[in-house]
Amino acid sequence: MTQRIVLASGNPGKVREFSELLAAHDVTIVPQSDFAVPEADENGLTFVENAIIKARNAAAHTGMPAIADDSGIEVDFLNGAPGIYSARYAGDGGSAANNAKLLDALHGVPEAQRTARFQCVLVHLRHADDPTPVICQGTWEGRILTGQRGDAGFGYDPLFYVPDEGCSAAELTAERKNQLSHRGQALRCLLAAFS
Ligand code: IMP
Repeated sequence: MTQRIVLASGNPGKVREFSELLAAHDVTIVPQSDFAVPEADENGLTFVENAIIKARNAAAHTGMPAIADDSGIEVDFLNGAPGIYSARYAGDGGSAANNAKLLDALHGVPEAQRTARFQCVLVHLRHADDPTPVICQGTWEGRILTGQRGDAGFGYDPLFYVPDEGCSAAELTAERKNQLSHRGQALRCLLAAFS
């Protein structure tokens, strides 16, 4: 029987990626926006803390099992920033403003020092009081380009160069990105924990 799990995100890019990856496992992903779940107060200092806070909030408001991811990009030259603050790196301006700020922060920095990685932590809670959450992590190495390339994906994808593929994350098909990405890795870890 199909299992319904609420995803503690309303981001259409993430909802699409999760649905694609989980469809084969008889799991239907329902975005928390379908239940008018109020935003959680993401006051943790780590990806793990924030993922648990978001999953618990979604489970508490829906009575359903919940999955939350907390993800972001760590840039070595910026000592790991924007990290857990990736979504709001440039305030409320969204991806365009975030990408512009990141390009600015790395202006003139040579290629060898532009190393970065996407991080994704995924948490699955069976219910809001679940004392043993499943926690999975994925990491995707790359470096920050000096300008945007490609228009697939979302967020920092047009700035994230993937050396093994010779292109940016925004130039990959959704299928290829799922095979390589931090989120794809964390999700496969989660699927293994399910079975
Ligand atoms: P979260 O919704 O709090 O996990 O915020 C994560 C932020 O990190 C997103 O808003 C994006 O800016 C960035 N991010 C995470 N995963 C990706 C990805 O796969 N591609 C591009 N940007 C990403």
